[in-house]
Amino acid sequence: MPNDTTGELVEVLRNLREQAQFLKELGVEQVALDSSVESAASPTSVPQATAAAPATISADTRPPFASAKREAVSPKTAPQQTEALFHRMTPAEPALTTSETLEQIWTDIGDCTRCGLCEGRTQVVNTHGNRNSRLMFVGEAPGADEDAQGKPFVGRAGQLLTKMIEAMGMKRDEVIIGNVNRCRPPGNRQPTLEEAAICRPFLFREIASIQPEIIVVMGNTALRNLLEVREGITRVRGKFQDFRGIKVMPTFHPAYLLRDPSKKRETWEDLKMVRDYLDTNPPKSKR
Ligand code: URA
Repeated sequence: MPNDTTGELVEVLRNLREQAQFLKELGVEQVALDSSVESAASPTSVPQATAAAPATISADTRPPFASAKREAVSPKTAPQQTEALFHRMTPAEPALTTSETLEQIWTDIGDCTRCGLCEGRTQVVNTHGNRNSRLMFVGEAPGADEDAQGKPFVGRAGQLLTKMIEAMGMKRDEVIIGNVNRCRPPGNRQPTLEEAAICRPFLFREIASIQPEIIVVMGNTALRNLLEVREGITRVRGKFQDFRGIKVMPTFHPAYLLRDPSKKRETWEDLKMVRDYLDTNPPKSKR
């Protein structure tokens, strides 16, 4: 029978092997040793839970909503501690519910001309993937490849996202992937606040229809359109947040990781927290 120390060692080795494999897959050639292992932080306190009444959503352009306290969980927090903290988080806004199907939402979107982005796009790029998934990824807006193929995250950043999903032990077609904006901004610029505010309600309706248990928001645009945060992704990443009763993990955008591969390591920490939650919690019934 393995004693506790052996068990811990096995766990450490398992994590190291997984991380090495992920880094190898992502093309990282050198890894600097640091003191982060010793400095596992203790979780900060979070408020007591209150029940959130379900409500039907509408396609409004209100600013996004989030829990009052955001500094919930350290990225190094053990899964059991994380689990305990989730149950004490306080959704600030009612849960999203809807009887709409994705097809009904997409029909409503149609050949959208609600904002100026329609002028430069080839096609609308709606959310794509397994609508029964517990896990959703949200990015910013389509790029050239997505605009051409009509699917989110199929270009270079998308290929990296696929590797990240596979490193989590999942297949890409097991998850669902969307964007804040569904038309390609000219020159791949960031969508304006107005463009995001016009398109975001469709994402919220999709989220209400899909009912994911966790949403990974990738980059500042996704972060700020789902959560009311002032800080950028660098400060908020790795800490579970709340969006209308759904757990949100902010992390770096894969396009940013292509520019700065040194951030892959932190991204992996964030994704491991998501994987650990999914592994240690039974699926919730969707409806
Ligand atoms: N970047 C995004 O944010 N979304 C995509 O679909 C592709 C690249």
